[in-house]
Amino acid sequence: MFKKGHKIRRTGASKIDSTVPKASIQEDMVQEILKGVPKDYQRRYELCLRGKKALRNAINMTCYECCCFEDAQNRVNECLSYRCPLWNYRPIRRKNAGIEMPKV
Ligand code: SF4
Repeated sequence: MFKKGHKIRRTGASKIDSTVPKASIQEDMVQEILKGVPKDYQRRYELCLRGKKALRNAINMTCYECCCFEDAQNRVNECLSYRCPLWNYRPIRRKNAGIEMPKV
């Protein structure tokens, strides 16, 4: 047990490079990620990365990205990955696609 007045030594804290501001690392990351996103989706994707869009938009972007942003409307609608946790929340679920979760 600690005695009254005992000070905890914080080892390891000095190993963190404090000269690199945290915000600049995130900014670099965002810019790097956006390089792989088509122009039509970049603005929305960026806002999601920065946490400035609703959760719904982040889910939509995840599905579009999963389809490589190509023909996303149809691909997401016809997605058969029932095991994906986002399957019931995917943005496009037209009834006429006739795709339903298999009964267990
Ligand atoms: S629901 Fe389908 S399209 Fe959306 S992330 Fe999951 S696998 Fe990808």
